[in-house]
Amino acid sequence: MSAAIHVHAEENRQREQIAEFGRSLFDRGLSAGSSGNLSVRVGDGWLLTPTNASLGRLDPAAISRLDWDGRLLSGAPPSKEAFLHRAMYQRRAGANAIVHLHATHSAAVSCMCGLDHDDCIPPLTPYFVMKIGRLPLVPYHRPGDPALAGAIGALAAKHSAVLLANHGPVVSGASLEAAVYAAEELEETAKLFLLLRDVPTRALDAAQIDELKSTFGLDI
Ligand code: ZN
Repeated sequence: MSAAIHVHAEENRQREQIAEFGRSLFDRGLSAGSSGNLSVRVGDGWLLTPTNASLGRLDPAAISRLDWDGRLLSGAPPSKEAFLHRAMYQRRAGANAIVHLHATHSAAVSCMCGLDHDDCIPPLTPYFVMKIGRLPLVPYHRPGDPALAGAIGALAAKHSAVLLANHGPVVSGASLEAAVYAAEELEETAKLFLLLRDVPTRALDAAQIDELKSTFGLDI
């Protein structure tokens, strides 16, 4: 197979996978209406779900292909939240995919008073620590405010995921599958956090987190 055909086949595979994960997230109520967007690095650019598209009914061929200046190369016009993905990719060389959702429990936590802005959700389970680590809060910005890109970029070098205040999470991963699984782990842990708000709770302690870091080589 020539290099060009190989790149094309890989892009098509990624398009199919975006549509497949999109449908799965939509079907389980993790992306209501046309909310949420998925992206993947491919070739010398990246793929992003289109604007006003339901993740439940994506046409793989219509998924937007962009360059690193944000220009549309092919497909439908991209999500208006493209800049938020780009801000994270620019600071995380190892991020090959990004999932952004307005999922209920994560979004609910993003609206709470009194959050620790450096770490919004306590380390309730080892799975949350392994897949998300520390989750910082990005201060509120109106939809489309370009200053949001700078605020995400400032945190993205050190964090694979951030929570946008009064909005929802942005989660990166080495692959789309990894980013989706991490976003799901975040949503489930946000749910636990809300369930346990009035219940005396023991989160993992520092020694238990250190054990996870050394056993699994976590960089958090
Ligand atoms: Zn959003």
